Amino acid sequence: MVKLKKTIHDSLNKLYELETEDQNTIEAVFYRGNTLCVSSQVGCPVKCTFCASGMNGLIRNLSAEEIIQQYESSPDRENITNITFAGIGEPLLNWENVKQAFWQFKEKGLKVSFYTTGSPTARFKELLNLPHSGVSLSLHAVSEEKRKKLIPYGEPIDKVLSVFKEHLSKLSNRKRKMYSIAYLLINGENDTEEELEKLAEIAKDLGVGVSLLKYNEIEGIPYKTTSDEEYERAFLFLKSKGVKTTLSNRYRTRKIGGCGTLMINRLKRGEGKYGAIKQD
Ligand code: SF4
Repeated sequence: MVKLKKTIHDSLNKLYELETEDQNTIEAVFYRGNTLCVSSQVGCPVKCTFCASGMNGLIRNLSAEEIIQQYESSPDRENITNITFAGIGEPLLNWENVKQAFWQFKEKGLKVSFYTTGSPTARFKELLNLPHSGVSLSLHAVSEEKRKKLIPYGEPIDKVLSVFKEHLSKLSNRKRKMYSIAYLLINGENDTEEELEKLAEIAKDLGVGVSLLKYNEIEGIPYKTTSDEEYERAFLFLKSKGVKTTLSNRYRTRKIGGCGTLMINRLKRGEGKYGAIKQD
Protein backbone atom coordinates (compact mmCIF):
# COMPACT_ATOMS: atom_id res chain seq x y z
CA MET A 1 0.00 0.00 0.00
CA VAL A 2 1.32 3.42 -0.96
CA LYS A 3 0.42 6.25 1.40
CA LEU A 4 0.54 9.98 0.83
CA LYS A 5 2.97 11.44 3.34
CA LYS A 6 3.34 15.01 2.26
CA THR A 7 2.34 17.49 -0.44
CA ILE A 8 4.84 20.10 -1.54
CA HIS A 9 3.43 22.78 -3.79
CA ASP A 10 4.18 25.99 -5.58
CA SER A 11 1.78 28.09 -7.63
CA LEU A 12 1.77 25.61 -10.55
CA ASN A 13 2.51 22.10 -9.40
CA LYS A 14 1.96 19.77 -6.51
CA LEU A 15 4.50 17.15 -5.64
CA TYR A 16 3.20 14.21 -3.63
CA GLU A 17 5.68 12.44 -1.46
CA LEU A 18 4.44 8.89 -0.97
CA GLU A 19 5.65 6.04 1.19
CA THR A 20 5.53 2.36 0.29
CA GLU A 21 4.86 -0.34 2.86
CA ASP A 22 8.58 -1.09 3.14
CA GLN A 23 9.26 2.59 3.86
CA ASN A 24 10.65 3.64 0.52
CA THR A 25 9.74 7.11 -0.65
CA ILE A 26 8.45 7.71 -4.15
CA GLU A 27 7.08 10.85 -5.74
CA ALA A 28 4.32 11.87 -8.13
CA VAL A 29 3.61 15.32 -9.55
CA PHE A 30 0.19 16.84 -10.27
CA TYR A 31 0.41 19.56 -12.93
CA ARG A 32 -1.58 21.37 -15.61
CA GLY A 33 -4.63 20.88 -13.42
CA ASN A 34 -5.39 17.48 -14.97
CA THR A 35 -2.21 15.41 -15.24
CA LEU A 36 -0.45 13.13 -12.80
CA CYS A 37 3.17 12.22 -13.46
CA VAL A 38 3.83 8.87 -11.80
CA SER A 39 6.99 6.99 -10.80
CA SER A 40 7.63 3.45 -12.03
CA GLN A 41 10.61 2.52 -9.85
CA VAL A 42 12.19 3.35 -6.49
CA GLY A 43 15.40 4.99 -7.67
CA CYS A 44 16.45 4.40 -11.26
CA PRO A 45 18.96 2.00 -12.83
CA VAL A 46 19.60 4.24 -15.85
CA LYS A 47 21.66 6.64 -13.75
CA CYS A 48 21.53 9.58 -16.15
CA THR A 49 24.44 11.70 -15.03
CA PHE A 50 22.30 14.87 -14.82
CA CYS A 51 19.50 13.31 -12.77
CA ALA A 52 18.77 13.38 -9.06
CA SER A 53 16.44 10.38 -9.25
CA GLY A 54 19.11 8.05 -10.60
CA MET A 55 21.90 9.17 -8.27
CA ASN A 56 21.70 6.06 -6.10
CA GLY A 57 20.70 3.60 -8.81
CA LEU A 58 17.73 1.25 -8.53
CA ILE A 59 16.35 0.32 -5.13
CA ARG A 60 13.46 -1.74 -6.44
CA ASN A 61 10.70 -1.90 -9.01
CA LEU A 62 7.21 -0.72 -8.08
CA SER A 63 4.37 -3.21 -8.43
CA ALA A 64 1.48 -2.36 -10.76
CA GLU A 65 -0.61 -1.80 -7.65
CA GLU A 66 1.87 0.69 -6.24
CA ILE A 67 1.84 2.60 -9.52
CA ILE A 68 -1.98 2.73 -9.52
CA GLN A 69 -2.02 3.76 -5.86
CA GLN A 70 -0.10 6.93 -6.70
CA TYR A 71 -3.25 7.95 -8.57
CA GLU A 72 -5.69 6.52 -6.05
CA SER A 73 -4.10 8.31 -3.12
CA SER A 74 -4.02 11.67 -4.89
CA PRO A 75 -6.19 14.36 -3.28
CA ASP A 76 -6.68 15.71 -6.84
CA ARG A 77 -7.88 12.41 -8.22
CA GLU A 78 -11.20 13.77 -9.41
CA ASN A 79 -9.46 16.25 -11.69
CA ILE A 80 -6.98 13.79 -13.18
CA THR A 81 -7.67 12.82 -16.78
CA ASN A 82 -4.09 12.11 -17.87
CA ILE A 83 -1.32 9.95 -16.49
CA THR A 84 2.24 10.34 -17.65
CA PHE A 85 5.07 7.96 -16.85
CA ALA A 86 7.70 10.67 -16.38
CA GLY A 87 8.48 10.40 -12.69
CA ILE A 88 11.23 8.37 -11.06
CA GLY A 89 12.36 5.35 -13.07
CA GLU A 90 12.53 4.12 -16.65
CA PRO A 91 9.17 2.51 -17.51
CA LEU A 92 10.77 0.03 -19.92
CA LEU A 93 12.90 -1.40 -17.12
CA ASN A 94 9.85 -2.36 -15.07
CA TRP A 95 7.92 -3.31 -18.11
CA GLU A 96 5.53 -6.05 -16.96
CA ASN A 97 4.29 -4.01 -14.01
CA VAL A 98 4.12 -0.80 -16.04
CA LYS A 99 2.07 -2.58 -18.72
CA GLN A 100 -0.34 -3.93 -16.13
CA ALA A 101 -0.72 -0.46 -14.61
CA PHE A 102 -1.17 0.99 -18.09
CA TRP A 103 -4.16 -1.26 -18.82
CA GLN A 104 -5.68 -0.56 -15.44
CA PHE A 105 -5.38 3.20 -16.00
CA LYS A 106 -7.01 2.74 -19.40
CA GLU A 107 -9.88 0.81 -17.82
CA LYS A 108 -10.46 3.82 -15.60
CA GLY A 109 -10.82 5.95 -18.72
CA LEU A 110 -7.51 7.78 -18.27
CA LYS A 111 -5.16 8.83 -21.07
CA VAL A 112 -1.65 7.51 -20.57
CA SER A 113 1.59 8.85 -22.02
CA PHE A 114 5.27 8.02 -21.55
CA TYR A 115 8.72 9.53 -21.41
CA THR A 116 11.37 6.92 -22.11
CA THR A 117 15.03 6.56 -23.05
CA GLY A 118 13.93 3.88 -25.56
CA SER A 119 16.01 0.96 -24.22
CA PRO A 120 15.70 -1.95 -24.38
CA THR A 121 14.51 -1.45 -27.93
CA ALA A 122 12.39 -4.64 -28.01
CA ARG A 123 10.24 -3.16 -25.23
CA PHE A 124 10.33 0.27 -26.83
CA LYS A 125 8.71 -1.31 -29.92
CA GLU A 126 6.05 -2.86 -27.74
CA LEU A 127 5.38 0.46 -26.00
CA LEU A 128 5.02 2.30 -29.30
CA ASN A 129 2.31 -0.15 -30.30
CA LEU A 130 0.22 0.25 -27.15
CA PRO A 131 -2.90 2.45 -27.34
CA HIS A 132 -1.10 5.25 -25.50
CA SER A 133 -1.75 8.97 -25.74
CA GLY A 134 1.83 10.00 -26.44
CA VAL A 135 5.44 8.85 -26.31
CA SER A 136 8.36 11.18 -25.92
CA LEU A 137 11.81 9.77 -26.58
CA SER A 138 14.31 11.26 -24.13
CA LEU A 139 17.22 11.82 -26.50
CA HIS A 140 19.24 14.59 -24.78
CA ALA A 141 22.22 14.13 -27.14
CA VAL A 142 22.75 13.65 -30.86
CA SER A 143 25.98 11.63 -30.86
CA GLU A 144 26.63 8.22 -29.36
CA GLU A 145 29.55 9.51 -27.32
CA LYS A 146 27.57 12.35 -25.74
CA ARG A 147 24.51 10.24 -25.16
CA LYS A 148 26.59 7.61 -23.36
CA LYS A 149 27.96 10.35 -21.15
CA LEU A 150 24.52 11.69 -20.26
CA ILE A 151 22.57 8.40 -20.33
CA PRO A 152 25.12 5.66 -19.56
CA TYR A 153 22.63 2.82 -19.82
CA GLY A 154 21.07 1.84 -23.08
CA GLU A 155 21.36 0.68 -26.62
CA PRO A 156 23.14 2.74 -29.31
CA ILE A 157 21.40 5.95 -30.30
CA ASP A 158 21.13 4.81 -33.96
CA LYS A 159 19.33 1.65 -32.95
CA VAL A 160 16.86 3.50 -30.73
CA LEU A 161 16.21 6.07 -33.46
CA SER A 162 15.73 3.44 -36.14
CA VAL A 163 13.07 1.66 -34.03
CA PHE A 164 11.33 5.01 -33.53
CA LYS A 165 11.58 5.83 -37.23
CA GLU A 166 10.25 2.48 -38.34
CA HIS A 167 7.18 2.96 -36.17
CA LEU A 168 6.63 6.58 -37.15
CA SER A 169 7.00 5.92 -40.87
CA LYS A 170 3.77 3.89 -40.81
CA LEU A 171 1.73 6.71 -39.26
CA SER A 172 -0.24 9.60 -40.68
CA ASN A 173 0.93 13.15 -39.90
CA ARG A 174 -1.97 13.50 -37.49
CA LYS A 175 -0.98 10.40 -35.51
CA ARG A 176 2.66 11.42 -35.48
CA LYS A 177 1.73 14.43 -33.39
CA MET A 178 1.44 12.12 -30.40
CA TYR A 179 5.19 11.55 -30.51
CA SER A 180 8.11 13.80 -29.80
CA ILE A 181 11.76 14.00 -28.88
CA ALA A 182 12.57 15.33 -25.42
CA TYR A 183 15.83 17.26 -25.31
CA LEU A 184 17.17 18.56 -22.03
CA LEU A 185 19.36 21.54 -22.77
CA ILE A 186 22.44 21.56 -20.53
CA ASN A 187 24.81 24.49 -20.63
CA GLY A 188 28.02 23.65 -22.53
CA GLU A 189 27.11 19.94 -22.85
CA ASN A 190 24.68 19.51 -25.70
CA ASP A 191 23.81 23.01 -26.87
CA THR A 192 26.23 23.92 -29.68
CA GLU A 193 24.83 25.08 -32.99
CA GLU A 194 26.09 21.88 -34.65
CA GLU A 195 24.28 19.77 -32.08
CA LEU A 196 21.06 21.73 -32.48
CA GLU A 197 21.41 21.49 -36.25
CA LYS A 198 21.71 17.71 -35.96
CA LEU A 199 18.76 17.61 -33.58
CA ALA A 200 16.68 19.50 -36.14
CA GLU A 201 17.73 17.00 -38.83
CA ILE A 202 16.75 14.04 -36.66
CA ALA A 203 13.37 15.56 -35.76
CA LYS A 204 12.59 16.38 -39.37
CA ASP A 205 13.67 12.95 -40.52
CA LEU A 206 11.32 11.38 -37.97
CA GLY A 207 8.55 13.91 -38.63
CA VAL A 208 8.11 14.79 -34.94
CA GLY A 209 8.49 17.89 -32.80
CA VAL A 210 10.97 18.60 -30.04
CA SER A 211 10.08 19.22 -26.44
CA LEU A 212 12.91 21.42 -25.27
CA LEU A 213 13.57 21.12 -21.55
CA LYS A 214 15.73 23.35 -19.44
CA TYR A 215 18.11 21.78 -16.97
CA ASN A 216 17.72 22.44 -13.25
CA GLU A 217 21.00 22.53 -11.39
CA ILE A 218 21.37 19.90 -8.69
CA GLU A 219 23.85 20.09 -5.87
CA GLY A 220 26.54 17.42 -6.27
CA ILE A 221 26.02 17.16 -10.06
CA PRO A 222 28.42 19.29 -12.11
CA TYR A 223 26.13 20.34 -14.97
CA LYS A 224 25.00 23.93 -15.35
CA THR A 225 21.65 25.32 -16.28
CA THR A 226 21.22 27.17 -19.57
CA SER A 227 20.45 30.89 -19.33
CA ASP A 228 17.01 32.07 -20.44
CA GLU A 229 18.65 33.81 -23.41
CA GLU A 230 20.40 30.62 -24.55
CA TYR A 231 17.25 28.62 -24.04
CA GLU A 232 15.32 31.04 -26.20
CA ARG A 233 18.10 31.04 -28.78
CA ALA A 234 17.92 27.24 -29.05
CA PHE A 235 14.13 27.39 -29.31
CA LEU A 236 14.24 29.98 -32.11
CA PHE A 237 17.01 28.09 -33.89
CA LEU A 238 14.98 24.86 -34.01
CA LYS A 239 11.90 26.77 -35.12
CA SER A 240 13.88 28.48 -37.85
CA LYS A 241 14.80 25.00 -39.13
CA GLY A 242 11.12 24.15 -39.43
CA VAL A 243 10.90 21.97 -36.30
CA LYS A 244 7.82 22.23 -34.15
CA THR A 245 9.37 23.03 -30.79
CA THR A 246 7.68 23.35 -27.45
CA LEU A 247 9.02 24.77 -24.25
CA SER A 248 7.23 22.35 -22.00
CA ASN A 249 9.03 23.98 -19.18
CA ARG A 250 6.37 26.08 -17.70
CA TYR A 251 6.00 23.08 -15.40
CA ARG A 252 9.27 21.28 -15.75
CA THR A 253 11.70 24.10 -15.05
CA ARG A 254 10.11 24.39 -11.66
CA LYS A 255 12.08 22.52 -9.11
CA ILE A 256 9.21 20.12 -8.54
CA GLY A 257 8.56 19.40 -12.19
CA GLY A 258 9.21 15.76 -13.12
CA CYS A 259 11.81 13.28 -14.39
CA GLY A 260 15.31 14.38 -13.52
CA THR A 261 14.16 16.70 -10.77
CA LEU A 262 12.21 14.38 -8.49
CA MET A 263 13.99 13.31 -5.31
CA ILE A 264 15.70 16.68 -5.11
CA ASN A 265 13.07 17.87 -2.72
CA ARG A 266 13.57 14.96 -0.43
CA LEU A 267 17.34 15.11 -0.69
CA LYS A 268 17.46 18.78 0.11
CA ARG A 269 14.31 19.56 2.01
CA GLY A 270 15.03 21.62 5.04
CA GLU A 271 18.00 23.36 3.48
CA GLY A 272 15.98 26.42 2.56
CA LYS A 273 16.39 25.97 -1.20
CA TYR A 274 12.77 26.16 -2.13
CA GLY A 275 11.75 29.72 -1.46
CA ALA A 276 8.09 29.93 -2.32
CA ILE A 277 7.35 26.21 -2.15
CA LYS A 278 5.14 25.29 0.76
CA GLN A 279 4.88 21.95 2.50
CA ASP A 280 1.69 20.54 3.99
S1 SF4 B 1 16.33 11.06 -16.09
FE1 SF4 B 1 14.71 9.49 -15.95
S2 SF4 B 1 15.69 7.66 -16.88
FE2 SF4 B 1 17.37 9.07 -16.37
S3 SF4 B 1 18.07 8.43 -14.30
FE3 SF4 B 1 16.53 10.06 -14.08
S4 SF4 B 1 14.58 8.97 -13.75
FE4 SF4 B 1 16.05 7.52 -14.65
